Amino acid sequence: MDIWTVGTSSAVPTRERALACNMINYRGERILFDCGEGAQRRIMMDKLGLMKIDRIFISHWHADHFSGLLGLIQTLEMEGRERPLYIYGPPRTEEFTDRILDTGYFKRSYDIFVEDLVEGDVIAGDGYEVYPFEVEHGVNAFGYVFEESSQVKANKEKMEKFGLESTPKIGDLKAGESIEWRDQTVKPDQVVEKVPGRKIVYSGDTSKCDNLIKNSENADLLIQEATCLHEDIEERKNHTSAKQAGEIARKADVEKLVLTHFSRRYRGEEEKLKEEAGKEFENVELGEEGKRFEVKPHRPE
Ligand SMILES: [Zn+2]
Repeated sequence: MDIWTVGTSSAVPTRERALACNMINYRGERILFDCGEGAQRRIMMDKLGLMKIDRIFISHWHADHFSGLLGLIQTLEMEGRERPLYIYGPPRTEEFTDRILDTGYFKRSYDIFVEDLVEGDVIAGDGYEVYPFEVEHGVNAFGYVFEESSQVKANKEKMEKFGLESTPKIGDLKAGESIEWRDQTVKPDQVVEKVPGRKIVYSGDTSKCDNLIKNSENADLLIQEATCLHEDIEERKNHTSAKQAGEIARKADVEKLVLTHFSRRYRGEEEKLKEEAGKEFENVELGEEGKRFEVKPHRPE
């Protein structure tokens, strides 16, 4: 599974950074989280698979998080798309998307299905779920959890103990059936284990809040807005400082923290944000245009 930070600037783009957009590649499917201006061009430049996008999750309806939608939708039309596109977001997403689609002389070769979500909703995909959680940003705003379904996997050491390494019967054990093997009965729980799926969290825009920490618990990767240094957080109401981003990651006990949504004030000095977050949480990286983060499958204990 790959995650790309496609756009990483807040409010206005810079020469180096487009507006908010992140993409997950899960078994070939591309899932977008926010679609700021410049997203489609960046996705093309890095050959990330524009036409493979089926679902777009909008965190909230500030322009820097949705201003790339119109162009993206139009490009899919020009390329002759026929598959439907699904757009999800907080309350009023349907209303705002309708307005976008009612702009100009618009032709469309495919259907767009739009859904207003509330916390508690679950969008089920093939082998994963995405669910929104409320964050604090002064308008209806979500963070999102992408969670892979748990998987039944064979424990290598336990297999060796039974001499089971080379039997096709492992499939039966994974399916929950006992097998007869070398004059003994082997039960599934003696060899196979349920392994939790991978978890990716995107904060959207938010001040540091408990619901974000709760929903980020034990994530493999947290993509967290870090708009400014902590000394400037009073001026950036409803946002998170780099220091707070580090605190959130530490409290939620995530594996890795990726910072994004940088104010242009720090252009060329983004390392300062990383340093500040790094004092709170060690495993931190800066999101960059088209930078790829790989999350490997979990193994049995
Ligand atoms: Zn915002």
